[in-house]
Amino acid sequence: MADTVELPSRLAILPFRNKVLLPGAIIRIRCTSHSSVTLVEQELWQKEEKGLIGILPVRDDAEGSSVGTMINPGGGSDSGERSLKFLVGTTDAQKSDAKDQQEVHWHTRGVAARALHLSRGVEKPSGRVTYVVVLEGLSRFNVQELGKRGPYSVARITSLEMTKGELEQVEQDPDFVSLSRQFKTTAMELVSVLEQKQKTGGRTKVLLETVPIHKLADIFVASFEMSFEEQLSMLDSVDLKVRLSKATELVDRHLQSIRVAEKITQKVEGQLSKSQKEYLLRQQMRAIKEELGDNDDDEDDVAALERKMQAAGMPSNIWKHAQRELRRLKKMQPQQPGYNSSRVYLELLADLPWEKASEEHELDLKAAKERLDSDHYGLAKVKQRIIEYLAVRKLKPDARGPVLCFVGPPGVGKTSLASSIAAALGRKFVRLSLGGVKDEADIRGHRRTYIGSMPGRLIDGLKRVGVCNPVMLLDEIDKTGSDVRGDPASALLEVLDPEQNKSFNDHYLNVPYDLSKVVFVATANRVQPIPPPLLDRMELIELPGYTQEEKLKIAMRHLIPRVLDQHGLTSEFLKIPEAMVKNIIQRYTREAGVRSLERNLAAVARAAAVMVAEHEQTLPLSKDVQKLASPLLNGRMAEGGEVEMEVIPMGENDHEIGTTFQSHSTLVVDETMLEKILGPPRFDDSEAADRVASAGVSVGLVWTTFGGEVQFVEATSMVGKGELHLTGQLGDVIKESAQLALTWVRARASDFKLALAGDMNVLDGRDIHIHFPAGAVPKDGPSAGVTLVTALVSLFSQKRVRADTAMTGEMTLRGLVLPVGGIKDKILAAHRYGIKRVILPQRNSKDLVEVPAAVLSSLEVILAKRMEDVLENAFEGGCPWRNHSKL
Ligand code: ADP
Repeated sequence: MADTVELPSRLAILPFRNKVLLPGAIIRIRCTSHSSVTLVEQELWQKEEKGLIGILPVRDDAEGSSVGTMINPGGGSDSGERSLKFLVGTTDAQKSDAKDQQEVHWHTRGVAARALHLSRGVEKPSGRVTYVVVLEGLSRFNVQELGKRGPYSVARITSLEMTKGELEQVEQDPDFVSLSRQFKTTAMELVSVLEQKQKTGGRTKVLLETVPIHKLADIFVASFEMSFEEQLSMLDSVDLKVRLSKATELVDRHLQSIRVAEKITQKVEGQLSKSQKEYLLRQQMRAIKEELGDNDDDEDDVAALERKMQAAGMPSNIWKHAQRELRRLKKMQPQQPGYNSSRVYLELLADLPWEKASEEHELDLKAAKERLDSDHYGLAKVKQRIIEYLAVRKLKPDARGPVLCFVGPPGVGKTSLASSIAAALGRKFVRLSLGGVKDEADIRGHRRTYIGSMPGRLIDGLKRVGVCNPVMLLDEIDKTGSDVRGDPASALLEVLDPEQNKSFNDHYLNVPYDLSKVVFVATANRVQPIPPPLLDRMELIELPGYTQEEKLKIAMRHLIPRVLDQHGLTSEFLKIPEAMVKNIIQRYTREAGVRSLERNLAAVARAAAVMVAEHEQTLPLSKDVQKLASPLLNGRMAEGGEVEMEVIPMGENDHEIGTTFQSHSTLVVDETMLEKILGPPRFDDSEAADRVASAGVSVGLVWTTFGGEVQFVEATSMVGKGELHLTGQLGDVIKESAQLALTWVRARASDFKLALAGDMNVLDGRDIHIHFPAGAVPKDGPSAGVTLVTALVSLFSQKRVRADTAMTGEMTLRGLVLPVGGIKDKILAAHRYGIKRVILPQRNSKDLVEVPAAVLSSLEVILAKRMEDVLENAFEGGCPWRNHSKL
């Protein structure tokens, strides 16, 4: 480093814009402006010995007004604003230099610099000369006066450097000593930090040892990036102690900033992957939020869920459980696998009616009875039983009476009776269809460990209905079966048991739910398949089906008004006369209930609705139209048929077309229309006669899930080995009945061999085939016994059975006729078929009281004790064998 130099009294001045050159620092500058190029040429380039120039900091300043050429420099103190304002002269040469046109603030202190290196270049297009100069700062000076030498400035200066003597004196100063020690320590620290980082500290350390301290301060500071102001204040620190303390402060600050930067990078360069880091940060954020009790923004919906849960009124133990689950949810990421299932689960907990109930008003039995009567025709006994049930509930609301179970074929009003009970009690109604439920999980739900697990139907139904005390209909309770997946019936048992259903356990829900406030009602088509323990909990109310007269009344009073209403029609537009309803009942439906009747009526209403809609569109044209033909009906017309719909004018002023069609004409359904809508009749009374036209066929009465039915039995024989073939989807019991019947007939046949017709004596060399038509329908039960025997006797005797006679009854091996079930249904079925005589087991005579008198009076009922009695009555002119019988 340079030793202290003698400064001349005048120095050419190079302005240093917004920068400071400190002693000891080396800079490289490019000179391009006219003034600086001239300066370099005249003061440095052309001189043999490399001269000195002054570097004076200049502050660019757009503010302030223009002042005179020069302002007197300030005093020589170390503090205060030291600048000279100088408006650069306006010589022609300077005009080109735009920057020089501005007002500049010269600093009053500068640094003398020595050129270490000079190089000259020429800018191509303009041919202008430029210089690159490497300068080394040497020592501070004070500007006494600023003047001009050609285009550039020169200053009269005084050196600010201390003499050797002064320096030695200062070095004795204890303050200075401690300050310099402090500086050295800090500087050393900085050096070692930098060494670690960049491994360049070697030279700097040498510097620290060799260079005098007052220069070191400048050198160190010059190497940092600092603001212009800080650089200026360093330049102005002429006093050594001031300079040292300032330098210590700056070095220390630099050291700190390096350390902070290092810490930050250490933090960032963790070993965590990005997602892990994100997760951790989120966890922290959550913890912080929890700490602050602050769960706003994106957790809004979780908060909403929590509010819903609070409002659900869960029992305290379940609330605790829910809270635990909620805490778990809160800690989870929405993308995490369990999040959604946990959420859905909590939604269910919040949605379930834990305490929400429909308010049960004071039960008015009279009103309930009126309601039942207005909703349902007939069924006096059933209604009476329902009223009794309601009365008990009224007297003892928490009485645990049996569960009512309506048993009967489809369409007899089981469901609608149950919903009337709900209405009478003022409770909501919910229906659970149990038909085909084979899996216990359907009732009890799947455990939440399964993917896609759900609550069972009970809990789901309660969630749907939204109150904890609905009337719940367990529909088709006889259609639940059991298989490897468990036994739904046993789950139902728990549901219906008042002792157990206080804490019903759904696997999905996993907390007990109190079902005791629910009023259960069940329906079944048949009693038989219901497991006895379940049956034990229920009180059966049978609805056997309706007679034709009852159906007619139901249709006229209930079904037609409802159907019209559903199709937006009124009785003013569509009239279905009683005769037509009867027609539908007899020729289009053969059912115990009224479901198919209702469907057929709806079909008629639909066709009429189409006509109304079409008519409304073409209203202006229809002024004189008396007959309408619906395209829909035409479409359904049989080939070649011609359809005409009669529109009967209403009142006298039919010439005034009103706004609505209804006010003008009424459509009355007739037979032709019926056939067009419903197709040709499906049933007629001559069916039985046609089918028993040959020997070997008999007419039986059976009971199915659809109520009573007429069942034909066909028997035939052919050459074979004496085997019995049975077809028509038969169960074991009916197959055994067939065996029994054949045995009985064979035994008799040998007894009455003489009487057997023609080839009967070769019975042993023949096969017998018995078929039950409607082969797709499964059949079982013992009540076809007498019918089977009759068919076989008819076959062997080649005598036809009476077409007007149907029979039912079980037979023993010895020929006794045993009673069977479903007598009322069977008689109603016979009545529907137009059968005139019915042979029943003697011991079923007590069941006849249930049969409506109107039906009974239209039939001849024959009671049989023994098989022979049946045969006697089944054939025209008595049993074919009778003449030869010894009995
Ligand atoms: P189920 O449940 O026995 O199969 P539904 O209750 O569904 O039968 O009845 C079928 C339709 O028949 C319903 O529209 C019902 O209102 C009507 N219905 C059945 N019986 C009667 C009746 N006695 N009086 C009036 N409507 C009835």
